[in-house]
Amino acid sequence: MPRLAHRLSSIKPSPTIAVSTKAAELKSAGKDVIGLGAGEPDFDTPSHIRDAALDAMNVGKTRYAPVAGIPELRKAILAKLKRDNGLDYEMDQITVGCGGKQTIYNAMMATLNPGDEVIIPAPYWVSYLDITLLAEGKPVVVDCALEQHFKLSPAQLRNAITPKTKWLILNSPSNPTGAVYTPEELSALAEVLMEPAHAHVHVLSDDIYEFIIYDAIFQTFAAIAPEMKDRILTINGLSKAYCMTGWRVGYAAGDSAIIKAMNKIQSQSTTSTSTLSQWASVAALNGDHSFMATHVKTFKQRRDLVVDMMNAIAGISCYKPEGAFYVYPTIQGLIGKKTPTGQTIKTDEDFVSFLLENQGVACVHGEAFGLSPYFRISYATDTETLETACKRIQAACALLT
Ligand code: PLP
Repeated sequence: MPRLAHRLSSIKPSPTIAVSTKAAELKSAGKDVIGLGAGEPDFDTPSHIRDAALDAMNVGKTRYAPVAGIPELRKAILAKLKRDNGLDYEMDQITVGCGGKQTIYNAMMATLNPGDEVIIPAPYWVSYLDITLLAEGKPVVVDCALEQHFKLSPAQLRNAITPKTKWLILNSPSNPTGAVYTPEELSALAEVLMEPAHAHVHVLSDDIYEFIIYDAIFQTFAAIAPEMKDRILTINGLSKAYCMTGWRVGYAAGDSAIIKAMNKIQSQSTTSTSTLSQWASVAALNGDHSFMATHVKTFKQRRDLVVDMMNAIAGISCYKPEGAFYVYPTIQGLIGKKTPTGQTIKTDEDFVSFLLENQGVACVHGEAFGLSPYFRISYATDTETLETACKRIQAACALLT
């Protein structure tokens, strides 16, 4: 056994990737498995975006790209931030990385000193916690349960801030709950952050699900609180809205000193994301967006289907969220029940294991996102399969006594 780095002991592999991998393995072994674990649209990348990558390849745009991203892409990002969010940035305030994930990683590596605190409302996207730990920061997890629609309150924020707080991470629409903060709720959080005693706290606003939103208005934190714009790092990416998960393009906009520091980290790791992916992203951001309305309409129908089918199960209660492509039902009413083989459902992990074994449906347990007893369903899968999966979950639950 080789001797490995101490830092590995503080983190775990991404549980959402682990569930998708397990489902894929079972499937290739011939098992009838439906994976509802992946946070990935089932639609293909639109053809005008794919064509832009082919064109770039054919004219030889295949060399290293600048660390911060090709200027054409950074310009397209500036235009996007102005068009969609009313935000003005300069070129040196934008950096492009290998997905939102690497961009967040760069931000934490560039700004955290050992023991610096990062406020993470739970349930949270799995990587916020582990990236903070990898960067030697201290996650300060604040539970935001179903009763508060999974959203951080101003009082909770005030309680969580200490002199060591470096970041508050906000993610709206949220992975794993789909919850969306209203502009009023964001303003109330901004008021707390603008108190003089809290001037050291920065905000990482993860907007990756910006365009996957139904009955709500998207507002980014920098537009809500322009007075503290230099303390806000806005993260976004092409993966979800443009169906480009495998292209690996994400970006950040914020204070030029932080962006410069992030570029320094990136210059010693990946250099940049793929040049071809960057040219495809220029076409995506500057091009036709009409496909998004069709996708959102489909996602909304699926959300309604899943929420209704989950709420029809005794022991499960499912909040109807306003965005992203996830729901996060509570299984509080099933805790303590017995499976047909006599095992007791003690945790949400027991529950998802039972779903996989009994009905071949793969979901992710709430504990992975820091709040139990819940589980996450990703409805970014075709409607027919989704309906079958929900029927199977209903059938599995009917067996619990
Ligand atoms: N932020 C959130 C909340 C996510 O759910 C994801 C992906 O699942 C990401 C960021 C990162 O996505 P990517 O690295 O593909 O841009």
